[in-house]
Amino acid sequence: SDLRSEPVQNVCVVGAGYVGRLTQMLGIGGPTAAVLALHHPNITVEVLDRDPKRIQRWKSPHLPVHEPGLDTVVRIVRDGAEAKDVLKHSHSPVPTRRRQNLFFTCDTARAVSRADIVMMAVNTPTKMFGVGAGCATNMAAFDGAMREVAVHAKPGAIIVEKSTVPGGTAERVRKTLATLRPGAPFEVLSNPEFLAEGSAVENLTVPDRVLIGCAQTPSGHQAAQTLANLYAAWVPPSRILETNAWSSELAKLVANAMLAQRISSINSISAICEKTGADVNEIARAIGFDARIGPHFLKAGLGWGGSCFRKDIASVCWIAESLGLDDVAHYWQQVIVMNERQRQRFARKVIDRFEGNLVGRKLAILGFAFKKNTGDTRESLAVDVIRLLLEERPAEIAIFDPYCRREDILCELEAACPGVTHAVTIHPDSYLACSQAHAVLVVTDCDQFRNTPKRSPEGNSNQASAVNSDASHRANNKRPCTRAADETWTHAGV
Ligand code: NAD
Repeated sequence: SDLRSEPVQNVCVVGAGYVGRLTQMLGIGGPTAAVLALHHPNITVEVLDRDPKRIQRWKSPHLPVHEPGLDTVVRIVRDGAEAKDVLKHSHSPVPTRRRQNLFFTCDTARAVSRADIVMMAVNTPTKMFGVGAGCATNMAAFDGAMREVAVHAKPGAIIVEKSTVPGGTAERVRKTLATLRPGAPFEVLSNPEFLAEGSAVENLTVPDRVLIGCAQTPSGHQAAQTLANLYAAWVPPSRILETNAWSSELAKLVANAMLAQRISSINSISAICEKTGADVNEIARAIGFDARIGPHFLKAGLGWGGSCFRKDIASVCWIAESLGLDDVAHYWQQVIVMNERQRQRFARKVIDRFEGNLVGRKLAILGFAFKKNTGDTRESLAVDVIRLLLEERPAEIAIFDPYCRREDILCELEAACPGVTHAVTIHPDSYLACSQAHAVLVVTDCDQFRNTPKRSPEGNSNQASAVNSDASHRANNKRPCTRAADETWTHAGV
């Protein structure tokens, strides 16, 4: 039963998502707020961000993020459009009669002071690159936002960590609140977000589970129940789990670490396969049938990228090290090491195919985002591959990605390989990028690359067909530098 005496009327989500220059990537704040507002027409949900440009875009007809289904949900809750068949897969029907109940603002004092629940969804990026000592999450934005929230929150408000944070953060947040607002009662919950970019609305609507970590006190459980009641509008109770805050914070990190570990594990096997007659796809299929293993996250390839996996494994390592568990830290560091080796191996194979000499060669790179069907370039695999290839001074590296903005690609590359981006060109079309290329490297398994038709000589692009026939010529003669996307992806080959 709901032990909270007052019903929740206002929720504030802090962090509207996506960092500065990167415009096409998902942020969790906006979609989370939109789905919550959709299922609770009587609750006002306000998304707060310190960046006025970002807020302006959330208010505009053109949302700042590309996520299937998000436009529709936002139109309903932000603009009051009629809800019909919005989310077919939802466990519960969506209320159709409604008012506008999703708002966007930069006014911290007003948004926070009205909220019964404040959800912290600000960025918590990787603090440092490199495996080993000092790896942890950069908590500057989270801590800064938390101090602002502490100043303005109304007594009795529930503060929810949605951001991915190191274990023990709820305890730190409690101390911050006690210092800045002595005597005011607040509850702090951990409620990590498990959504994946590219399927955010679906993941929020039909989550595998909702995890709520709370203080093991009557008021802690009461706060957890209040939040659980909100989710219960669309999530079956069996999928709403309550734990202590440490378990919840650590579970989020471990979920990402385990997913990354599976990819690193199958990639380590791909290295064996390439030196033997074994086929890593066949192995993945065979072991995936084992109910204890299951088929997911067993696709060998270039490895994992993005802003989450590395940071979260680094956090697990950091926690283990800080507890004196060096062997545990070492174990998880190997997941990162294996991931880096995979990219190096890929780049090495390209270079070896040209007998160690890329001078004068044009290499086409298809895909730049950290994974398929997103424009998110954070910690993209392509950056490392291109950096390694540029060291061999090719004539040109031609890039095409259907979702990434040109300036984001250049910005990432300039940061990773300063001063050498003159050798890089970015194209609006895969055929143009591949034109006259000596090799085509498929770096993300974007659907578009799988389905890209081979243009015939009579087709629109003679140049492109020249690339393909050039490739098949090489395939027949001097060992291929271009292959089908499937093969390239699954073997991390070229
Ligand atoms: P993001 O960088 O896209 O967005 C964070 C937003 O917070 C930015 O718009 C920033 O301006 C805003 N912000 C920072 N400080 C603020 C302050 N003091 N006041 C108001 N706004 C402030 O981050 P994201 O991708 O949405 O990720 C947020 C958190 O969710 C991270 O901890 C991340 O690890 C976690 N997470 C992300 C995903 C994902 O797919 N992106 C999935 C699960 C969990």
